[in-house]
Amino acid sequence: MNNQKGILAIISGFSGAGKGTVVKKILESHNEEFALSISATTRGPREGEVNGVHYFFMDKAVFEQKISDHQFLEYAQYVDNYYGTPKEFVFDKLNQGVSVILEIEMQGAFKVKEQYPEAVMIFITPPSAEELESRLRGRGTETEEVILSRLARAADEASYMEHYDYIVVNEDGKVDECSDKIYHIVETEKKKAAFCGSFIRELADDLARYKKGE
Ligand code: 5GP
Repeated sequence: MNNQKGILAIISGFSGAGKGTVVKKILESHNEEFALSISATTRGPREGEVNGVHYFFMDKAVFEQKISDHQFLEYAQYVDNYYGTPKEFVFDKLNQGVSVILEIEMQGAFKVKEQYPEAVMIFITPPSAEELESRLRGRGTETEEVILSRLARAADEASYMEHYDYIVVNEDGKVDECSDKIYHIVETEKKKAAFCGSFIRELADDLARYKKGE
């Protein structure tokens, strides 16, 4: 199918669910089909994080100016910091037929879905609460206070998981399996009739010409 737009894949999951690793794997395995939206944030960089690669790091005043200038597809406050999705990149890529991954938390995810209902919402979760806690602690980058606030946030988020389109369990050590599942979800979405409107119309027009004997 030519001229098909990309799929907007919203990927959320509890902090510590392993989203980053899974998303990295999808991008490595299918680099021409997918692009990752790089978010803006007011949180400071963690060790090893690079501006423009992991996030666009900025202070609060700059972020708030961008909100006023309507430069975000969505933005949200998460554990005392702002996070937002730059709008232009997302739509440019979708129009080029490239699927875009938004790795964002729930508030933002629902805002995007409201504005762009064709988006597919995918929630990644570890197999259990114990596994989530051990992954958060194992990361070793956060203070106890931040770990506890992220676990508390996960408890709140669990009650909204059912509103996602797909739940994907990220089993320990099975990143490839998890990223394959997400890839196949996106492939399936592309085949949904509702998403193939321009292809269907073109085909129907051509067939109508046969019928008229043109
Ligand atoms: P972290 O500080 O661990 O990098 O990210 C914290 C949370 O913010 C994660 O759940 C992540 O998915 C989410 N997040 C990252 N970028 C965005 C964004 O642009 N918008 C929203 N709404 N959430 C984001």
